[in-house]
Amino acid sequence: MIRIQNFINGELVAPVKGQYIDNYEPATGKVYGEIPNSTEEDVELAVIAAEKAFPIWSNMTNEERGAIMMRISLGIEKRMDEFVAAESRDNGKPLSLAAHVDIPRAISNFHFFATAVEHFASESHYMEGMGINYTTRKPIGVVGCISPWNLPLYLFSWKIAPALASGNCVIAKPSEITPYTAYLLSEVVKESGMPAGVLNIVHGLGQFAGDAIVKHPKIKAISFTGGTKTGEYIARTAGPMFKKLSLELGGKNPNIIFADCEFDEMVKTTVRSSFANQGQICLCGSRIFIERSIYEKFKAAFIERVEKLTVSNPTDPNAKMGAVVSKPHMEKVLSYIELAKEEGGTILTGGHQVHLEAPYNEGYYIAPTVIEGLSYDCRTNQEEIFGPVVTLTPFDTEEEVLMMANSTVYGLSATIWTSDLKRAHRTADKVQAGIIWINSWLVRDLRTPFGGVKASGVGREGGWEALRFFTEAKNVFIPY
Ligand code: NDP
Repeated sequence: MIRIQNFINGELVAPVKGQYIDNYEPATGKVYGEIPNSTEEDVELAVIAAEKAFPIWSNMTNEERGAIMMRISLGIEKRMDEFVAAESRDNGKPLSLAAHVDIPRAISNFHFFATAVEHFASESHYMEGMGINYTTRKPIGVVGCISPWNLPLYLFSWKIAPALASGNCVIAKPSEITPYTAYLLSEVVKESGMPAGVLNIVHGLGQFAGDAIVKHPKIKAISFTGGTKTGEYIARTAGPMFKKLSLELGGKNPNIIFADCEFDEMVKTTVRSSFANQGQICLCGSRIFIERSIYEKFKAAFIERVEKLTVSNPTDPNAKMGAVVSKPHMEKVLSYIELAKEEGGTILTGGHQVHLEAPYNEGYYIAPTVIEGLSYDCRTNQEEIFGPVVTLTPFDTEEEVLMMANSTVYGLSATIWTSDLKRAHRTADKVQAGIIWINSWLVRDLRTPFGGVKASGVGREGGWEALRFFTEAKNVFIPY
C-alpha cells in the first residue's frame, strides 16, 4: 500500500485530522494506496506557510527563481521511469503515453516558465508632450491551483510553473483520483532548494480541500481546470470575493472534414484525436463532421483503423488504449452509449466494456466506440462524454457544418481538414473555439494562448497569458 502525504511548509506531513481515502488502480479496479483526505485545517496551514514564504520568494530575482525551477525540471527528468510508471498506474493510461506525452510535458512546463519569466517585460506608454506611463507587474501573493485527473502532472505543472515563476506562493490540489505524481513532485521540490512554503500540495476531495482553497480569503487567485459544473461553482463562490479567476473547462470539440483534405493523413490523425488517452483529453474531437461525398469512404477507413486499436492493460507495450480513470467514469461513459442507442444512433464499432484476463479482469476498459445516425442537436452530440466515444455526422455545405459545429454550449478547440487555403482560414475564423488546428491536432507551442470560449472557460493559459494572469498590473504616470 502506498500512503502519500501532503507537502506543506517544505515537509511531507499527514493530514491534520488523520483521515485518508482509497486510491484505486484503474487497470485492476483494486485499491493500491491511500491519500490524505485533507480539510480546511490543512489548507490553513498551507496558507500560513505560503504567506511566510512570499516575501522571500517574491524578492528573489527571476534568475534565482528560474534556477530553482530548472532544478525541479531536471529532478523530474532524473526520475523519469518512476514518474512514468506512477502516472500510468494512477490514471490507467498506457505507459507509452505517459512516457511520450505526460511526463516530458511536465518537465517542459517547468523548463519553459523558468526561462520565459526572464523574457517577460512590462509596458511603457509615452504621451506626446505630456509624460510617460510605465506598468509594473508584480506577483499576486498566495494563489490556488486546482487540476483534473486526465493529464495529471501535465496540467498540474502547467498551472504551478507560471504561478511560481512570476513570484507567487502556491496552494495546489491535484485531483484526488490521480494524486501520485504530484506527491513524487513534492519529493523533487524538497530537494530543489526551493524555500519552504513556496509550493504547498494539499491532497483530498474537491468538496473539502478544493472548496477550502476556493473560499480562503487569503488566496487571491484561482487557476482551475476541470468540469464546467465545478467551474461554475468556483466562479459563483470566488467571484464575490473578487479573486482573479482562470477557468479551463469542458469541451465537445468538432472535427470538420472536407472532401478535399489529404485523406490518409486525416484518417490517421483523426483516430488519435478521437481516442488518445481513452478519449479523455479536453482537446479530443468527439463530434466528427464529414463532407457527404466522402462519408462512406471515411467511415470504412476510420473503422478499419479503430478496430486495430489494442485495448489492454497499461503496461502492455502493444496497448494503444488503457483503462478509463475510474469505475464511476466508466459507468458514465457506458450510460452515454446507451443514451446514444435510445436516441436512434447506430453503434458502428465498440459500444461495450472490455473484459481482460486476471489480474485486470476488474479494470475499467471500454472499446473505442463509433456511432452514426444521430441528429447534431441530440444529448449525445451536445453533452461532454469525455471517453472513447465519437459520433459521425455527414454535411453538405460549409454553412451547415459551421451551424452544427457551433451548436453546443462549449467552445474549446476544433480541427479542420481541407486543402483549400481560403476555406481553412474562413472556417477557422467562424468556428467558436479558442484553439483551432488545421490539418493537424494537438500541436502545442507553449507560448500560444490556451483556453476556450462559451462554457469552455474564462481566461487563457500559456506563455505571456499565464504570466499576466499570475501578476497584478500597476500603471504609473509621470508628467514632464
Ligand atoms: P472536476 O471538475 O470534477 O474536478 C477538477 C478538480 O476540481 C479536481 O481536483 C476536483 O477534486 C476539484 N474540485 C471538485 N469540486 C470542487 C469544488 N467544489 N471546489 C474546488 N475544487 C473542486 O473535473 P474532472 O477531474 O472530472 O476532469 C474532467 C473535466 O476537466 C472535463 O470536463 C474536461 O473537459 C475538463 N478539462 C478541461 C481542460 C481544459 O484545458 N479546458 C483540460 C483537461 C480537462 P476531486 O478530484 O476531488 O473531485
